[in-house]
Order: sequence, then C-alpha cells, then structure tokens
Amino acid sequence: MTDRVDVDAYLQQLLQPQAFKDYGPNGLQVEGRREVRRVASGVTASLDFIDAAIAAGADTLLVHHGLFWRGQDGRLTGWLKARVARLLAHELNLFAYHLPLDAHPELGNNAQLGRRLGLTPDARFGDQDLGFIGPAPAELQSLQALAQLLRQQLGRDALAVPGDGRPLRRVAWCTGGAQGWFEAAIAAGADAFLTGEISEPQAHLARETGVAFLACGHHATERYGAPAVGEALASHFGLAHGFIDIGNPA
Ligand SMILES: [Zn+2]
Repeated sequence: MTDRVDVDAYLQQLLQPQAFKDYGPNGLQVEGRREVRRVASGVTASLDFIDAAIAAGADTLLVHHGLFWRGQDGRLTGWLKARVARLLAHELNLFAYHLPLDAHPELGNNAQLGRRLGLTPDARFGDQDLGFIGPAPAELQSLQALAQLLRQQLGRDALAVPGDGRPLRRVAWCTGGAQGWFEAAIAAGADAFLTGEISEPQAHLARETGVAFLACGHHATERYGAPAVGEALASHFGLAHGFIDIGNPA
C-alpha cells in the first residue's frame, strides 16, 4: 500500500509533464481515496474501462487518454457525467498522461511500440520531439515485411499506402493520431512512416514523395505505454497492477 500523494509525485518525476505543451491536464485528473493498493492501466478512461477496473478491484487508474481536453465547454453532462460519477462513487483515483506518455524514452508509447517492432530510434523529429526515427533491420526493409510484422504484433492489418518501392532503410513512427506529421517524417529522412490513423492527404503525399505510409490503428499503437508505466509504478511501490484492454477498432 502507498499514499496517492506519493504515486502522484513518482509519476510527475518519471514523466515530466511540465516539459510538454499538451491538449489537456496531465497527472491526477480525478481524486479518489488516499490509500493506493491496486492499479489498473488502460488506453482510455472510457466507461467500459472504468467498470472493468472496478470489477478488478482497482483503486487507481492510469490512462493515456483522460477525461478533460482543450475545447470542451466544462459541463459535466451526458457521457462525461456518467464517467465522473462512476469514478467518484467508487472513490477511484484517475491519473492521465497524454504526450508525456507518448514521449518517454523507455516506457512511452513510441519507445514500447518500437521495441515490439525491433526498431531502435537514433533521432527524434516533429513537434516537441515526439516522433521517433531509426534504421530498419535488413529483414524489415520491404513494405510487405513491415506490414506482416505489424499484423503479428498488433493483431490487425495496417492500412498501407506504398511509396515508390525503395528499400525502407529508415522508418519513422509516432503512435496515435499523428498523420499530420507525415511531412515532418519525410523531412527527417524517413522511407516509411508509421502511425495510428490516416486522413485523406496522406495517401497523395505517399504517392508523390515515394515515402510509404502505414496507419496501424490509434488504439493498437497506443496500447503499450500505460502498462509499462503501470508496471514501473507497481514495482516501485510494491502494488498490484493489471492492464485492461478495451478493444477499439479505431
Ligand atoms: Zn492517442
């Protein structure tokens, strides 16, 4: 058992949220009980995730996508009221870390996804250095091989737009909704860019620049940071921890 205040301090120290300009508040978003025993990590603080965490006996939730985002009008109504009501009724702590959880060099979404694909970054690119880029191992330097590995590791097919067929010597990646960074990845020297989502312009850019684009799923690419941080937190304080994956086709 440990104190919520110590969990808060540990996560702030580990993830350094003050170093980021983010779209919502990082850290403790909803305050629950003081004693922390069991942590549930997940991608998004959806109602299904909150209910599954309650069923698992968790008192503290750690997610990548929290409840509060820039652009919301601040009203606690409808679905947002339902989520907050559930958290408060069960006195659950909700910790949410967005960009800091993408960026952490060992435990973050990008680092953890890279590890699963055998990609080691040797540089960073894009806004706030969130993008990762590095050399691809020889056996991964074709679009077919990369797509096959992604299917194995993520359990779903990537939507791939081929480039000009060049060997994929350097692969750039950024988890989640980073399709808007394709040009930054190209400028950083990528032969292929891998992210969660695709929008209409990226298909044309791939065809016209020769750089392959792979959309691998927002959820699927962001499934690894929260459990890695949850595990580090749990082992630091001797807590119980489990990752709860609520499937998402997006
Ligand atoms: Zn995301």
